[in-house]
Amino acid sequence: MVSKTPDQPIVAEIPEEISGLRMTRQRQEIYRILIEQRDHPTANEVFMRAKDRLPNLSLATVYNCLEALVQHGIIRQVNFERESSRYCPNLSEHGHFHDAATGGIHDVDFKPGFNLADVLELPPGAVIHDVEITLRGKLPSP
Ligand SMILES: [Zn+2]
Repeated sequence: MVSKTPDQPIVAEIPEEISGLRMTRQRQEIYRILIEQRDHPTANEVFMRAKDRLPNLSLATVYNCLEALVQHGIIRQVNFERESSRYCPNLSEHGHFHDAATGGIHDVDFKPGFNLADVLELPPGAVIHDVEITLRGKLPSP
């Protein structure tokens, strides 16, 4: 996945329409910001990054764009405890690792063939539709 190389994003042209949502210039730029730097920014952080590219942008517009992208399944909204919502363009099933030292949030993928039912005592017959896994800890210093 592209998320493995967050420092060298290769962002192709963003289509005029994704999943039935017309990608206006503003939506394109906001989506591009999320793809380019996959650090799960808040709406406010997206706004700060987008201001240079879209000088007339308002925070309310950023919220509207993010909501439209979330509703069309183009990005995910993720909530951690009582923090502001954050936004993630990684649509594959994954968890999030919080680095306590830096506050950074990293995507963590499941290993191939991993099955939650092998490690969790699920209620009999349970069918999982969605997974939210949040891990907290620290990463080794570089
Ligand atoms: Zn994520």
